[in-house]
Amino acid sequence: MIRIGCSPPVEVGVFPYLIKNFLLEERSCSMQCKEATSLIIPFIERELPEDKLKIFLEHIRNCKECREELEIYYTIHMYIEGIDRDWFSTYNFKGEFEKELKEANAYVRWTNIMSFFKDLITAFAIIGILIILTLQLQLWGLIG
Ligand SMILES: [Zn+2]
Repeated sequence: MIRIGCSPPVEVGVFPYLIKNFLLEERSCSMQCKEATSLIIPFIERELPEDKLKIFLEHIRNCKECREELEIYYTIHMYIEGIDRDWFSTYNFKGEFEKELKEANAYVRWTNIMSFFKDLITAFAIIGILIILTLQLQLWGLIG
């Protein structure tokens, strides 16, 4: 069993593991809690670049501790923001937090779809190269 990310551990077969780690770069939730928590403030201030945002949200989805920490930071941040404004009679921190997470996840899902097609093309290219190589070796009489 190979453990990816913090929790929960994910079981993956050898081949998907190879694809994940060598062919398609680091696309899994390889971010550890320490890195995730260091990205909480940039996330709240909407300063996370796309690639970081993706792994950050993936980690938050799978890690209860970091999600709780994010929620706390978010609430504090909104509270500080709200001191100047007359928010507190009506403001729903929990609801806003969920909304913010949902929006960020929707954005990442869209970029995931785009990168899925990119990966698909890469996979076909690799298969194509292997086929050509096999045919060429057969032509040279080295195999088959
Ligand atoms: Zn974590």
